[in-house]
Amino acid sequence: MATNPMQFLDLPRQDPQKTPAEIRIHEFGEIIGQFDPATAGQQAGRCLACGNPYCEWKCPVHNFIPNWLKLVEEGNLFAAAEMSHKTNSLPEVCGRVCPQDRLCEGACTLNDGFGAVTIGSVEKYITDEALKAGWRPDLSDVVPTGKRVAVIGAGPAGLGCADILARNGVEAVVYDRYPEIGGLLTFGIPPFKLEKNVIRTRRELLEGMGVEFRLNTEIGRDVEFQALLDEYDAVFLGMGTYNAMQGGFPGEDLPGVYPALPFLVSNIREVMGWEHDENGFVDMAGQRVVVLGGGDTAMDCNRTSIRQGATSVTCAYRRDEENMPGSRKEVVHAREEGVQFEFNVQPLEIVGDDKVEGVKVVRTRMGAPDERGRRRPEPVPGSEYVIPADRVLVAFGFRPSPSDWFGEHGIDIDEGGRVRAPESGRHAFQTANEKVFAGGDMVRGSDLVVTAVFEGRQAAEGILEYLGV
Ligand code: FAD
Ligand code: SF4
Repeated sequence: MATNPMQFLDLPRQDPQKTPAEIRIHEFGEIIGQFDPATAGQQAGRCLACGNPYCEWKCPVHNFIPNWLKLVEEGNLFAAAEMSHKTNSLPEVCGRVCPQDRLCEGACTLNDGFGAVTIGSVEKYITDEALKAGWRPDLSDVVPTGKRVAVIGAGPAGLGCADILARNGVEAVVYDRYPEIGGLLTFGIPPFKLEKNVIRTRRELLEGMGVEFRLNTEIGRDVEFQALLDEYDAVFLGMGTYNAMQGGFPGEDLPGVYPALPFLVSNIREVMGWEHDENGFVDMAGQRVVVLGGGDTAMDCNRTSIRQGATSVTCAYRRDEENMPGSRKEVVHAREEGVQFEFNVQPLEIVGDDKVEGVKVVRTRMGAPDERGRRRPEPVPGSEYVIPADRVLVAFGFRPSPSDWFGEHGIDIDEGGRVRAPESGRHAFQTANEKVFAGGDMVRGSDLVVTAVFEGRQAAEGILEYLGV
């Protein structure tokens, strides 16, 4: 499909400019720049248009990647934006935060020695630039159905669901306990990965499509769930997972030990000039920080601490680098910014008398694979030592946080607390209560923005089928 299908031989992969580490460690803005139109077209034109686009299959929303790359190569930005929105409700967000190295770009044929097409950066370019040039989603031929659906949670799952409902003439009313939409996109992911004006723009777009947001409203506290069941034709749950995992070792309650998410949120509030919540601002300036964990949340803690002016930041992870769960590019960014990594160490205790003084760890070696195929870390006897620290951030991930009202409304959960809502059920993502659908982290466990968007969209299709519209 490309004008010159062998273009990749002459034109190497080129990523958008990245702010140099010595500058970006002093600021919180996004670190990845934007392609200019010529470079976007050239990079998009590197696509081989393979007959069987592996990138599309590996992308959780199955974006029509070669097709919109071709449109960008031809300079047809608005058509690219239209096509990009056919499969993804938040393309400008996914282009920024997806772990492309494990998804679309990891599957690109050109990875075989030539460098994958810069799919994520082109995806972000399309929507950002089309919006700047005046493109808006066209819903002019949508016919209202008179049906109304309540969406609980304005995170990626809820937004994906509301997007599809609106495009099919169903009124979506989205409730969230927070004062802004986005879920973890706003109250979790730091601005150096995703600036908050991106979410604000998306809110304007969705409102323009007729989606209504009722914020600062917690279902189960401010509004009863039963009231939603009574008022709406169906309800979608996209409430995320918020039960932070703990290490279960001594010293976790010492002053100076903080869970990851409240720390990150306090920083976002500080940077944005928003009022702090009851946790207040946690400042790492002048502190030796140890971050426990190896996923995206741990990387965000590392890089936020660096920007706040920590004297040192050490990330301690119990497996080796190969077996880290987070995005490779984020580890690269963290290293460039001065984060020290201690791989193959398992925390045993946070030490200190009346405040943190260090983390006692034991070295590990990689053992046999676990049930998910990841090699298990095994402690090496006699290898204990203490990493000195003034502050410790615990970033071990999240467990489901089912609400206590699920049971009384016939919403089943599995043994781990995830809501049961099978993709291949009678209607996609329908729960045991036929009027209630669910998707995103609360169904699959903590995962990715793009998988939450996918499930929200699929659940909306299930709702449309259930409503017979
Ligand atoms: P959420 O985003 O958690 O949204 C749920 C929403 O429901 C929230 O707004 C919440 O306030 C609302 N809610 C819950 N209960 C109620 C109630 N009773 N009433 C009203 N509202 C309610 N993924 C990536 O792909 N790339 C990344 O780089 C990345 N980085 C991450 C960094 C951090 C620090 C964290 C924590 C996660 C990261 N993730 C990343 C994961 C990603 O953010 C989540 O998988 C995704 O946001 C899940 O979407 P969701 O809609 O299911 O839930
Ligand atoms: Fe790649 Fe994510 Fe975009 Fe899919 S949504 S094309 S995986 S960046």
